[in-house]
Parts: sequence; structure tokens; C-alpha cells
Amino acid sequence: MDYLNLLKSCVLCPHKCKANRLAGEKGICKALSSVEISSAMPHHGEEPPISGSKGSGTIFFGRCNMNCIYCQNFQISQEFMENDFKKASIEELAEIMKGLQKLGCHNVNFVSPTIWIPQIIEAIKITRGAKEMTIPAVFNSGGYENPAAIKLLKGFIEIYMPDIRYGNNDNAYKYSGVKNYVENNRKSLIEMYSQVGGLETDKKGIATRGLMIRLLILPNNISNVKKSLDFIKNELSTDVYISIMAQYRPLHKAQCFPELSRKINYDEYSNIINYAEKLGFYKGAIQEFENSGPEEDLFIPDFNEKEVFRYKKNS
Ligand code: SF4
Repeated sequence: MDYLNLLKSCVLCPHKCKANRLAGEKGICKALSSVEISSAMPHHGEEPPISGSKGSGTIFFGRCNMNCIYCQNFQISQEFMENDFKKASIEELAEIMKGLQKLGCHNVNFVSPTIWIPQIIEAIKITRGAKEMTIPAVFNSGGYENPAAIKLLKGFIEIYMPDIRYGNNDNAYKYSGVKNYVENNRKSLIEMYSQVGGLETDKKGIATRGLMIRLLILPNNISNVKKSLDFIKNELSTDVYISIMAQYRPLHKAQCFPELSRKINYDEYSNIINYAEKLGFYKGAIQEFENSGPEEDLFIPDFNEKEVFRYKKNS
């Protein structure tokens, strides 16, 4: 199957624009057929099973199918110039993936991959067909997925790392401009779990396969994280690795929304951690709340800089 044909009537995400991207038609994300890449590098700021000691081979794609008013990657997801990205063919994407493996990275980590699923599959086919990429492929997304598109990834992706941003569709629409987030997100996560199961690691604790879910806590219970934890326990399993994130910062347009114009507080964070423990989750990462202070801002990217993350510059 030539997966690029899916671009002739694009329904890769729940927006289902049906744009013919091969013929130059643009849907909501405005992506066409050439992959657009902002940067590719070993990244040491992901969760320990993903970054390990040698880094996660991270490919930051341009554009996104979500429009989050607080996006920490807004420079490459929303506010960019058309020529800010490297336009890559499938073969060039495959070369970048092989290069990250040569650098010793533990995996190839596709960030904001949803709108580029066909191109990613074709590049994986090249690298795996020639046995030139043996490390796992990571699908690292905001979680606004079409479950039918996730089905296509079976056998190509070893590690899924989606967000659950919201447990409430009204908030998803208000703050990220997406409709029916909750149903599409949950059905897609069920499909992901059916493909790869709970997170598996090697003897060194490096992820080899499985599902890792990120839960970003937004102020004032806007993300309804408890509802999402209930879903994971009831519809998936407590063997899923959960990453509960305290790092929210009111970036991009968030200062225009008073309810999102501050960091989260200790009570908001500990309340979620206690609830997750009560439900029986036992695999995961939590950020020490003290560490969500200024030093944690070192992990907020700046895509206008040559070195995207400051933690790297200071090391
Ligand atoms: S990826 Fe989603 S937003 Fe982009 S054209 Fe396809 S359906 Fe529309």
C-alpha cells in the first residue's frame, strides 16, 4: 500500500478536512505533502525511559492539528513563516531517522506527527526494510487523533506517547479549537493500547514498547485530569505508564485567559498525584513540585535559538 494516497482526501485527524494535499489543497493544518521539520536532535528532557542516558532522537515537525492557546511549541505550531521549516522528502526523513540512530539515541521520537502519518510510515518502511533502523519509533502527540488513522500505524510504531489534554469537550474547543476531543482521544488510546500494551523496558530501564500517557495539569481543573485517570483505569489498565506534568506555564496567548494565566499550585498537583495513587497506578513519572520552578523552565523550548533547549546550553 502506498500510504501517501491518503493525502488525496485527508482524514488523518478528526477535523476530516478531505483536502487533496497532493494537489495543493490545504485543510485546517495547512500541511501539504512535503514533510516540514523544525529541528532534529538528541533530547534529554523527556521522561527517563524515553531519554535514558543518550537522549531521545527527537524530530520536531512543523504545524499541528490543534491550536492550543497555551502551546509551549507555538513558534513552530502556530506562529511561523512558511519558509521556517526544512521541507523533506520521504527519503530525507529516513536519512534523518538513521542519523539519530547513529548518534546513539534510544529511539526516534516524532513530535506532533499526526498530520504527517503517511510520510512517517513510508520513511519507516524504508529504514526498516533496509534494516537500517532498529531502535523503536515513538509517536508523541497532543492526542487529537482519528482512531482509523492510528490503526494504520500498527506494526510501525512501538511506543505511543499521547497526551490526554482534556476530559471535557467544551474546554478542548475553547482552549485548543478542536471538536469532540474526548471521544476521539479515548478511542485512539484504546487502539494504541491494543497494539502495544503497557510500557515495557529493557534492563537499563529504557522503553522498548508500550503506551505512555502524558497528563498536563492546567490551572482551575481545566483539564479534568481525574476523569482522564478514571478512563485509563477503567478502559485501559493501571499498567499504563502515566506522566503527570506540573510544568504548565502561561505561554503564548494564555495571559489573555485569566483562568489560565498562572502556573498550577501545590494543592492542584498533589491532589492529582494522590488520586492516581488511590486508583492503583504504579508505573510513571511525577515531577517534584519544587522542580517545577524556574529551573524547570530550562525545558521550555525556544525554536528561534540554535540550541532549542537551554538545559543543553548550560550543561
Ligand atoms: S491532518 Fe487533519 S487538519 Fe490537516 S488536512 Fe488532514 S484532516 Fe485536516
